[in-house]
Amino acid sequence: MPVPVVKLGSSVVAQESGELRLSVVARVCEEIAGLHRDGVDVVVVTSGAIARGVHLLRLPVRPHEIAELQAASAMGQGRLYRTYDDLMREQGIPTAQILLTFFDMSARTHYLNARRTLQTLLGWRVVPVINENDTTTTDEISFGDNDFLAAQVAVLLGAELLVLLTDMDGLYTANPRLDPGARLVEEVADPAELESLEIGHEVSALGSGGMRSKVVAGEMATAAGTPTVIASGLVAGSVARAWAGDRVGTRFAPQAV
Ligand code: GLU
Repeated sequence: MPVPVVKLGSSVVAQESGELRLSVVARVCEEIAGLHRDGVDVVVVTSGAIARGVHLLRLPVRPHEIAELQAASAMGQGRLYRTYDDLMREQGIPTAQILLTFFDMSARTHYLNARRTLQTLLGWRVVPVINENDTTTTDEISFGDNDFLAAQVAVLLGAELLVLLTDMDGLYTANPRLDPGARLVEEVADPAELESLEIGHEVSALGSGGMRSKVVAGEMATAAGTPTVIASGLVAGSVARAWAGDRVGTRFAPQAV
C-alpha cells in the first residue's frame, strides 16, 4: 500500500486568534479519506496543540517561555487529536494518536518500536495522527513546527510522498507579502538551486516553522528518496493534487539514493 505523509502546520489548523479552522481541517480530512478509500494509507502529522492551548487558556499571544509552550501544548493536544478523530470517524475511518520525540528517531530501539507501531496501524487501515511530544522535548517548538518530525516520519516509513501544508501557496523567490515581484517556485530538481534564494525565517504568530524549516525538511526527505510538496492547506484539493502528481505548490524531486 502506498503511504504519503501529510503535515498540517499551525497556520492551517488554527487562525491567528488560535480559533480552530474547523472547515479547513474537515476538508483536508475529507481529501485524506478519499485517498484512504482508494487504498492509499495517509499518515497525518499535525501541529496546532500549542495554538489550541493558547486559545483555551485565553492567552493574548503565544508565550515565549518553553515551559509555558509545553504546558499549553499539553492542554491543546487532547482537543486537537479529538478533532481529527471525530472528523475521520464521520468518514468511517479510525485514527490513532501518536506522540514522538526527536530522541525516538535517533535511539534505535525507539525508532524500531515507532516504525512497528505505525506499520501495524497502517496494516489495520487506521490513520495515525502524529504530533511531537512537547512535554519532554523542545526541538519542534523551538524551530520547525513539526516540519522535521514529518520528514523523519516519511523517512522512517519510506513514504512515497511528503506533503507540507501551510498558509502559503509554496516556496517563492522572495517574500510575496513584501515583494510583488515574487514568483512561486514550482519545481526544485536539486536543492542546490535554492542557494541563490533568500528564504525567510518569518514564522506565523502561532507556530515555529516558516519556509526555511520546510525547505530543510524537503531536503531531508528528498535525500532519502521521498518527493516533497509544499502547498497551501487553505486551498481545496492540495493533498489530492499533490498525490496525483498534478501541479500544486512547490515540488522537490527525490534525490538519487
Ligand atoms: N508540537 C507543536 C504543536 O503542536 C508544534 C508547533 C509549534 O512549533 O508551535 O503546537
